[in-house]
Amino acid sequence: MADTSSNIITIDGPAGSGKSTISRALAGHFEYAYLDTGAMYRAVGLKASLTKTAPDSDEELALLLDNLDLQILPGDEDSKVILDQKDISLEIRSAEMGMMASKVSARPIVRKKLTELQQQMAQKGSVVAEGRDMGTVVFPQAKFKFYLDATPEERARRRTEQLREKGMAADYEDILSQIKQRDHDDSSRALAPLMPAQDATIVDSSNMTINEVIHFIAEKIKTIQHNR
Ligand code: C5P
Repeated sequence: MADTSSNIITIDGPAGSGKSTISRALAGHFEYAYLDTGAMYRAVGLKASLTKTAPDSDEELALLLDNLDLQILPGDEDSKVILDQKDISLEIRSAEMGMMASKVSARPIVRKKLTELQQQMAQKGSVVAEGRDMGTVVFPQAKFKFYLDATPEERARRRTEQLREKGMAADYEDILSQIKQRDHDDSSRALAPLMPAQDATIVDSSNMTINEVIHFIAEKIKTIQHNR
């Protein structure tokens, strides 16, 4: 396998920590592709819900994964996600699909399949890979690893704003409780739990603007590159 360690930037962190905005900006800055792995789990969650697949049945999930026809393409803002020839980019962004993604993502059979797909995608060129286990499991060899965090209240505030900007219904209190639930589920699952890689730089963005975070990470990457 080719050595991909220095052309992968990993950005992990909980829901609403600013991963997507920051990953997209870094991808633009370094001219890397942007790999939105949350969108992949959301697409599997949506497919499970459309096909009435039980998220706790490995047999049913295996069938769903065998027939997974999924494309993640660059979009204007969020990634363009095509499932079974249909554009589901907007549908997967609802809070319900976030919860559904979290449910299916705890299943080893789902993680194995999506991990393989993500590693294949990164073989094609340089990527900024965003998710929960990019630095720990999917790309442990990456040289540039970051873990973004912010308080649950600040993350819920940002998420509420984002959903409203997309014209979707969003209640702050509901979103806060869903974020706390997802944090708990994502961090406590046995497989690939949400946590910083040992060699990741942790960035608490609660009191930082998006531009400050982007600048900080870009400078850190340049420093690592120069010191190698
Ligand atoms: O990042 P996003 O909110 O789109 O992710 C949706 C859900 O997908 C997360 O709550 C998490 O359960 C799951 N996920 C994951 N591993 C990733 C990316 C997302 O388990 N690499």
